[in-house]
Amino acid sequence: MLGLMQDRPLSLTHVFHRAERLFGHKRIVTGQAGGERETTIADWAVRVRRLATVFDTLGLSADARVGTFCWNTDRHLELYLAAPCTGRVLHTLNIRLFPEQLVYIANHAEDEIVFVDRSLLPLLWPLVDQMTTVRTVVVIDDGADAAIPDDPRIRDYEELLAAAEPFAGTFHIDDENSAAAMCYTSGTTGNPKGVVYSHRSAVLHSLVTLTADAFGLAERDIVLPVVPMFHANAWGLPYGALLAGAELVFPGPNMTPAAIAEQLARHRVTVTGGVPTIWMGMRPLLAQHDLSALRAILCGGSAVPRALSEAYREAIGIPMLHAWGMTETSPIASISSGRSHQDAWTEDERADARARQGQPAPLVDLRIADPESGQELPWDDEATGELQAAGPWIAREYYRGEGGGTQFTEDGWLRTGDVAAVDRWGYVRLVDRTKDLVKSGGEWISSVDLENEIMAHPAVEEAAVIAIPHEKWTERPLACVVVKEGRSLTGEELIEFLTPRVAKWWLPDAVEFIDEVPKTSVGKFSKRTLREKFGDYTLPS
Ligand code: ADP
Repeated sequence: MLGLMQDRPLSLTHVFHRAERLFGHKRIVTGQAGGERETTIADWAVRVRRLATVFDTLGLSADARVGTFCWNTDRHLELYLAAPCTGRVLHTLNIRLFPEQLVYIANHAEDEIVFVDRSLLPLLWPLVDQMTTVRTVVVIDDGADAAIPDDPRIRDYEELLAAAEPFAGTFHIDDENSAAAMCYTSGTTGNPKGVVYSHRSAVLHSLVTLTADAFGLAERDIVLPVVPMFHANAWGLPYGALLAGAELVFPGPNMTPAAIAEQLARHRVTVTGGVPTIWMGMRPLLAQHDLSALRAILCGGSAVPRALSEAYREAIGIPMLHAWGMTETSPIASISSGRSHQDAWTEDERADARARQGQPAPLVDLRIADPESGQELPWDDEATGELQAAGPWIAREYYRGEGGGTQFTEDGWLRTGDVAAVDRWGYVRLVDRTKDLVKSGGEWISSVDLENEIMAHPAVEEAAVIAIPHEKWTERPLACVVVKEGRSLTGEELIEFLTPRVAKWWLPDAVEFIDEVPKTSVGKFSKRTLREKFGDYTLPS
């Protein structure tokens, strides 16, 4: 017997129309050169409607991939809705990728058009000739003075909008499984792979960001996504905020910790999110700003150091809300929100729990498996295995079959490449990425755990641990450490500090002091760069 409920497609058109109808008076603020601009959802929605017309007049095909090369801005949010609501596919290009990767990605996705912030045009324009399917480049003037080449392919965003009548009807998508957006993995291994989100996956993911034990996004929130809109849809914050009716504050091109701290304070932002690097940079500024309105700082993308989270709790009263996910998981897969049984715990025990990646989000299933036999492992916090994920917003394959079957199990789960243990409450503890583990004498050393302990030293700004080949032990850890300004630290002092904190065989064989840990295009520690840098490193015997 079938249920008798209406079968209405889950689609981002609902997110748009709901925001337009219910929340037109709410503000969207964007940082720009020399200040900020402010608009309302009502005015923004008219521009989305104009943009829909522009897509047609420019002759974009029905499922055109619409590339964006933009900061976090209200204009980017226009594209975020106009593309999927008209059946096109939003393709956010990561502005920090290497030129070859950008060309590869635009060609692989067959982008027909790219919308680019004027300040970023000098990065994009030299590549456009190699982007063989791109016919039009639309420049969004963000007040930068970058030269605009005289070329028939270049169009001006504001001129196009001004000349277009707003689409007057109701946006509609027939098939909720049709593509809404795509995003390429940052390609830490091999070529970047295309992940294609559907309307259905985007709506369900957004809905979960509104649930209390996830981000709890609500109408009265003021949301500032620091995480770039080209990085896994800014973790779902823009769509989630619109669905909830929250206000949005965007940093625009100025992504310095000082500028973000000012925006957080000035707009009494309640929810923000970004990778740990951002929050590390802002830590020294906390005392100078009134951040009392903040209720959640989402943090993930790489392990959130316990010491960082605790520093925020001590300074402003809230720790980080630790979440785990990847481009392939839309990205929210697990969240370390508190549970009632933790009320009886000490603050220290709760801090330990917050350093874990958390419990699966509703509708997401997680399991750990022996990477060789595929055998599922128990949730006893001891057994470690490959973390695998399944759910309605988890990728089932890559665009154009790239990556083959290797990243998916026979029964259709995503193999994340992360190694984890899970405790009896269902809280994931990520041990490492498979390729970052230090394999010493047949055992594993978690580079993440070791980094956490090193970063707990008061003189350490940041630290990354990499494996160095070793004749006897296969691999041994090398600690690459950045010392805080005005502080000093020797390798011996650090080892002395670590000795009571980790197993003896975990102690790094060497400590190298560096000026900065190299970062990937999305601000994570780039261990690949470090491995290259210390390629022929000889450990002291
Ligand atoms: P890339 O693989 O290029 O880094 P993603 O942004 O998709 O691109 O990264 C996903 C990976 O980031 C995860 O597989 C995991 O290794 C890491 N990651 C994400 N969130 C966390 C977290 N909270 N703790 C530890 N690692 C994380």
